[in-house]
Amino acid sequence: MGVQKRVDAILSTIARRNAGESEFHQAVHEVVDSIAPALVKHPEYLDLKILERVCEPERQIIFRVPWEDDRGEIQVNRGFRVEFNSAIGPYKGGLRFHPSVNLGIIKFLGFEQIFKNSLTGQAIGGGKGGSDFDPKGKSDREVMRFCQSFMTELFRHIGEQTDVPAGDIGVGGREIGYLFGQYKRLANRYEAGVLTGKGLTYGGALVRTEATGYGCVFFADEMLKAKGDTLEGKRAVVSGSGNVAIYAIQKIHQLGGKVIACSDSSGYIVDENGINLETVKRLKEVERKRISEYVTAHPGATFVAGRNVWGEVPCQIAAPCATQNEINGEQAAKMVANGCLLVTEGANMPSNPEAIEAFQSAGICYAPGKAANAGGVATSALEMQQNAARDSWTFDYSEQRLKQIMVNIHNTCLTTAEEYGAPGNYVVGANIAGFRKVADTMIAHGLI
Ligand code: NDP
Repeated sequence: MGVQKRVDAILSTIARRNAGESEFHQAVHEVVDSIAPALVKHPEYLDLKILERVCEPERQIIFRVPWEDDRGEIQVNRGFRVEFNSAIGPYKGGLRFHPSVNLGIIKFLGFEQIFKNSLTGQAIGGGKGGSDFDPKGKSDREVMRFCQSFMTELFRHIGEQTDVPAGDIGVGGREIGYLFGQYKRLANRYEAGVLTGKGLTYGGALVRTEATGYGCVFFADEMLKAKGDTLEGKRAVVSGSGNVAIYAIQKIHQLGGKVIACSDSSGYIVDENGINLETVKRLKEVERKRISEYVTAHPGATFVAGRNVWGEVPCQIAAPCATQNEINGEQAAKMVANGCLLVTEGANMPSNPEAIEAFQSAGICYAPGKAANAGGVATSALEMQQNAARDSWTFDYSEQRLKQIMVNIHNTCLTTAEEYGAPGNYVVGANIAGFRKVADTMIAHGLI
């Protein structure tokens, strides 16, 4: 049977065995379709069933999370941890708290994480977890009680050499603090390296908070440099206004670009003077308010309710930093027609397959999240390194390390794409480079 037929058979088995998990199917397709040249060149990957093995999580944990709200009513949520692949290191990947969370979403994120973590060049495997709990509108005490109940089950599955969770949507410094406190209490161990994204007083690392957003802008800067261009004077749009978006905006401004729009799930704001980051940080990090409040502090700005920013606000640089499938084919075509030159994905899988096709066929720079947002997990691995050495590095040194990692990932993507006959294609480069290291290690470990 030819390679394509064998791959099609594998994909249809995966679709059947993981029925209804559309985001997981999408993530698998994106990887498998783009690594075809590697499957042809290295027949052992198909012969030893590496594809089938890498698409099946090593372990999936689903658990009940009961907790009591401020009115004394009992609430029941569902918790997940998918320990996807530990070939090259302990499972590593964030926790997402959002009402949309289900097994398919956690599996898509965990699957992406395997190849992203491999691309960073660090010894970390892939995993992801979370809950359908919605932190929005909850009091600090409710969030604390939920996190304590969540960790009461999760603690038995994780450990600094086993599985190291971090934040993602809905899980920031506050949640990591409560989760760490409960882990420490249950395990009776001060095991700083069991979680990353910690506060600076208890093992957190400088630059971890900024790392994903900064990293995706460093990656954009490298793509522009490869074309003899820079961010200086470029007009940018960043979606979202959470952790990744905030620090993407900051780094674009530091490198001379101007971000004129950002968003949250209620709509988007446009400020032609450039987004005032202090206002966004106050609203989102301190007051936990909606982005619409921005116009109260900046009356020259406008808020557009209930709309997605993509395709509506022309820009040269696009950094989707909110969530999966936030850009569809139609929006992508409008972005290209409006002069978009570059897309750097801070979020995981924010462009759907039609959007990716639109960006690639227009020949604009397109960096998939797996490469562009890998700075977050890479800096988490630096946090683990500092925890293991009971050390803490300066901001400048940590930022230099992050920048170098992003430069290396960029170069790896380009050289791998070239080697496999797809010059300039960052999707092919990222997927093949990430996959090969994991696949070769799985072969070295034997059939386990
Ligand atoms: P946050 O929770 O800090 O922020 C998420 C932002 O995206 C918020 O502004 C939120 O708006 C918006 N958003 C979320 N869901 C939707 C939706 N369905 N429609 C519209 N807007 C939405 O999360 P992060 O910034 O940490 O994560 C953002 C993305 O980056 C995710 O895809 C995540 O997987 C990815 N990522 C994060 C990393 C990290 O280090 N944190 C590392 C690598 C990737 P609202 O508040 O209204 O919901």
